[in-house]
Amino acid sequence: MKSRYARLLAGLFIFTTSAVADSAALTPLASVERACERIGTRLKDVGVQTCLDAGLIAGEGATHRGMPMMYRDYLPGTSRRTPFRVMLIGGIHGDELSSVAISFQWMKKLASERLQPFHWRVVPCANPDGLLVDAATRTNARGVDLNRNFATPDWDAKALERWRKVTRYDPRRFPGSAAASEYETRWLMNQIQEFRPDAIVSIHAPWGVLDYDGPLDPPQRFGYLRLQPLGIYPGSLGNYAGVVLRLPTITLELPHAEAMPTNAQSQRIWADMLGWLERNLPNSEPPLFQRLGDSHWVLRAPKAP
Ligand SMILES: [Zn+2]
Repeated sequence: MKSRYARLLAGLFIFTTSAVADSAALTPLASVERACERIGTRLKDVGVQTCLDAGLIAGEGATHRGMPMMYRDYLPGTSRRTPFRVMLIGGIHGDELSSVAISFQWMKKLASERLQPFHWRVVPCANPDGLLVDAATRTNARGVDLNRNFATPDWDAKALERWRKVTRYDPRRFPGSAAASEYETRWLMNQIQEFRPDAIVSIHAPWGVLDYDGPLDPPQRFGYLRLQPLGIYPGSLGNYAGVVLRLPTITLELPHAEAMPTNAQSQRIWADMLGWLERNLPNSEPPLFQRLGDSHWVLRAPKAP
């Protein structure tokens, strides 16, 4: 057991986030109120007031276009002394509008559900620049697919090569010029480091399936989403969180990028997911970063000699 971790750790370089060049502004140009006006106007299923009522907090820094990265914590209703922590991320791909809208719907539910057992951190809109441009884009404003930009150990060797050879320079899947080159990616990595979730749920569209990376037996279905592994990519969140950090990482692929699931379907996905997390998180190993015990690190691919 110990040697498995030792081997894994031997392949990783650890360095502080300050070592990464930061081109983003230090403070967002848009306030939470202004960001909500824009997000709520863009997403008819959300609306400005729902976004304002969500009580979002702006994190440090800003995107290329000056938008804040926003989140909100929800405490458990039960009295477990150390509740499991779950991070829910919507809209890492800006053109998957339903993934942002359902995050807001579930935030409403979390605000009113007093008996749910987890400490949640919800990041409903992880790529605001991609969402808010006139024709929404998968990538951020700098043309980077954030879900290929996480600092996985295979990034330097494989991410750009795969982009050239397998995607044939698909601009929607550009992984960036370096691992964690993007402010949004680094912000999410820092959130994971700081919040130390026991599980991550990332919402996408439009494949209409459920995917899972991590140490537990995967869930078979949540509502009408059935398990169908979509593959592991250099720089993806599933690779970074599920494979490298060994955090149970659930990817929900909603069936439409724009239209929301019906309320009944959304409710079933949520209930099945909560049930699975409740049954399975107690059997999970502590994630890798809890063994590292270092308070400030980012994983990066080893440099070629
Ligand atoms: Zn996606």
